[in-house]
Amino acid sequence: MSELRYDNQVVVVTGGGAGLGRAYALFFASRGAKVVVNDLGGSGKGEGNDTKPADTVVSEICAAGGVAVADHHSVTSGDLIIETAIKEFGRVDVLINNAGILRDVSFRNMTQRDWDLIMDVHVRGAYKCTRAAWPYFRKQKYGRVVNTSSASGLFGNFGQTNYAAAKFALIGFTKTLALEGKKYNIFANVLAPGAGSRLTATVMTPEVLSAMSPAYVVPLVAVLVHSSNTETGSIFEAAAGHFSKIRWERSKGALFRPDDSFTAGAVVKRWRDVGDFERGRPEHASGSADMITKLEEAKKAPR
Ligand code: NAD
Repeated sequence: MSELRYDNQVVVVTGGGAGLGRAYALFFASRGAKVVVNDLGGSGKGEGNDTKPADTVVSEICAAGGVAVADHHSVTSGDLIIETAIKEFGRVDVLINNAGILRDVSFRNMTQRDWDLIMDVHVRGAYKCTRAAWPYFRKQKYGRVVNTSSASGLFGNFGQTNYAAAKFALIGFTKTLALEGKKYNIFANVLAPGAGSRLTATVMTPEVLSAMSPAYVVPLVAVLVHSSNTETGSIFEAAAGHFSKIRWERSKGALFRPDDSFTAGAVVKRWRDVGDFERGRPEHASGSADMITKLEEAKKAPR
């Protein structure tokens, strides 16, 4: 990565006071960027606040000769975080929506607060920060966004209906930002990371934790937000040095005529076809436009 630099760019990292965010902040500052280290400094469950995490990372960056400023707002006040970037550095080029909390509990025992707080920090937080940065990105015809999802969002995870829902919401959010941003050279991608941190300390063994340094996720984010990147609207996994991409797959499916032969019984008869991924070429669906084609084909389907 020695050639990747971010000189004269302003990078905003939310939740930059610890874990993955801290690793991003240190990296971008070491590669010439001016960094806004945002962190509310609350507990892992989203209670309280503390200026220390963001301040400590800023001190580390400055001690190493880098340029950074701390911001202690919650991401739910994303406009104020972007305001910090504009006030201090006059611009914003890269936004890494990374701040996160967990409130794990079985769905049966989940309180309204468990649901709302998770939605607020992950979904509303990413929305508020991106919404505030968007006019600057559009005006300068440049912007890079990384939104942080999770394997939990992609696949579900016991005790995380709130978190999984929030993390999946970020996928639709990002894919649409990518569509709307493309002509303005604004690229947005999703990251589903894995790293040892406060959030995972209780669910990973010490050996696994040490093999999953947040630093091993940084190179992927570094590539995604670099000016040379052309990737947008994609979902990446990154953990322990393994980087991969996730995409959708549509089964061959079954076509039904939209007339009175199209009954629930007809669907039951062809149920295996509906979910058949083995026969026919798999389709890697990437848009909604092809549904129109399917409707046209359905009209011609045999009885
Ligand atoms: P972490 O707890 O070490 O760091 C998260 C940081 O976000 C903390 O410093 C916290 O104070 C800050 N934060 C929380 N709420 C905030 C708010 N409202 N406003 C501003 N800052 C806030 O956790 P981490 O593991 O580094 O997680 C970073 C991101 O990656 C999160 O979005 C998390 O959901 C996601 N993630 C992590 C893993 C993993 O394996 N560590 C896996 C999947 C997803």
